[in-house]
Amino acid sequence: MSFDCDRCGACCRNIRLSTFYDKDLDRGDGVCKHLTADNLCAIYKERPLICNVDAYYEKLLTDKMPREDFYKLNYEACERLKSLTRQSNRDIVKRVKLGAE
Ligand code: SF4
Ligand code: SF4
Repeated sequence: MSFDCDRCGACCRNIRLSTFYDKDLDRGDGVCKHLTADNLCAIYKERPLICNVDAYYEKLLTDKMPREDFYKLNYEACERLKSLTRQSNRDIVKRVKLGAE
């Protein structure tokens, strides 16, 4: 079993929302500096532990909660982040339509 990430990039675009991320990852606007233009992680194989749900669980949580519970918490966080990203995209479209950008 492994965490089913759809590579939407919503977590990588909102790293300021979590205190778990190292501030050095922020390129200045809350987006991780390692996120590529095609929405992938440029350091995927060496990405921080916090970016790897399975490795994080295996290193820190195996004796604290079932894997399924940790996945559930992460899927819920993913959905919140996706929803924020959708809202922010809608706001940008609205501002562009109004001629603000
Ligand atoms: S928000 Fe969740 S599904 Fe999207 S890239 Fe991050 S971990 Fe994967
Ligand atoms: S290091 Fe990679 S996986 Fe982690 S937030 Fe940055 S782009 Fe996303």
